[in-house]
Amino acid sequence: MSALPPGYCPACRIPVVWTELVTGELCAVSIAAQADGDVTVWPRSGQVPRGRILAGDDLTEARKNAVSLYGQHYPTCPARPPQVHS
Ligand SMILES: [Zn+2]
Repeated sequence: MSALPPGYCPACRIPVVWTELVTGELCAVSIAAQADGDVTVWPRSGQVPRGRILAGDDLTEARKNAVSLYGQHYPTCPARPPQVHS
């Protein structure tokens, strides 16, 4: 088993997986891979898994190659107010 360590969203308390982006930011993603996900996750021993948000050609390629992609939690979190895009 290489299950990722589980966690919980502090706002809505549903289970999520915390990943660390290359920017050092933490990004909560879905527990299971999703058809419409856009985050790749690499487990790292003893550390928060590394997450990378894909876009454009990278995302298209990953989906074509059936890479496991996880959904970002925050855009869909029921306890967070919607983000306003200006
Ligand atoms: Zn949430």
